[in-house]
Amino acid sequence: MSIYIEQIEQLVVLQKVDSEMITLEHILEEAPKQLQSLQEKRQYLEQQQGVIQEKIDVLMEQKGRIEGEIENDAQKVKKSKNKLMMVENTKEYHAMMREMDTMEKMNRMREEERSNLLADLSDLEGRKDALQKDIDALSETISSQQANLDQELSEKRTRLAELDKDKKKASEAVPAPILTRYNFIRDRIPNPVIVPVSEGVCKGCHVVIPPQTFIDLQKGEQILSCPNCLRIIFWERHFSGNE
Ligand SMILES: [Zn+2]
Repeated sequence: MSIYIEQIEQLVVLQKVDSEMITLEHILEEAPKQLQSLQEKRQYLEQQQGVIQEKIDVLMEQKGRIEGEIENDAQKVKKSKNKLMMVENTKEYHAMMREMDTMEKMNRMREEERSNLLADLSDLEGRKDALQKDIDALSETISSQQANLDQELSEKRTRLAELDKDKKKASEAVPAPILTRYNFIRDRIPNPVIVPVSEGVCKGCHVVIPPQTFIDLQKGEQILSCPNCLRIIFWERHFSGNE
């Protein structure tokens, strides 16, 4: 095997490792995103629940106030009834009766307001409970997905560590100047770095290689780059027997 062919083969091995690493790194980056969107959804539901709770607090305060007033007036009416027994003057008696009547009317209005408040409260409590059920279900989904994700990511990280070793080995096999060139390209253009040329077309950018470059490539003497995308190229027929 010529040195040229050997070097191209070493680069192809390195490329294979690099490609798998890039795929895994992409998965490691993207996989937690679905979980994040579920967590954001849960946060939104919790916020909504908070808004409902604030409304409940306001209504509870109102309810407390009305019940205090009802109790207060009921006590006054009771006292007045006791006093009524001792009143001797008719005018005073009628005045007290009117006052009691007014207080009782007010309390009937308050009772009505109170029963409206209770209905609103029960409606809000129902909505709060429904949200809680959604939040609980979401939390369950999140924790089971989290467990799966942890498992998956840990497997991917293990594989990545293996690949890192493979990469070191593959890198050591490549002569330094060629490795430098490979790394230079890898850091600047999207994967892959080394691509075959098939029927005169670069498989990296799908553009036809200039005739002179193609002739040089077929000679298999020096490592060439695609003039269009700058990727390292090799003639696929040099390797068709090895596939
Ligand atoms: Zn190209």
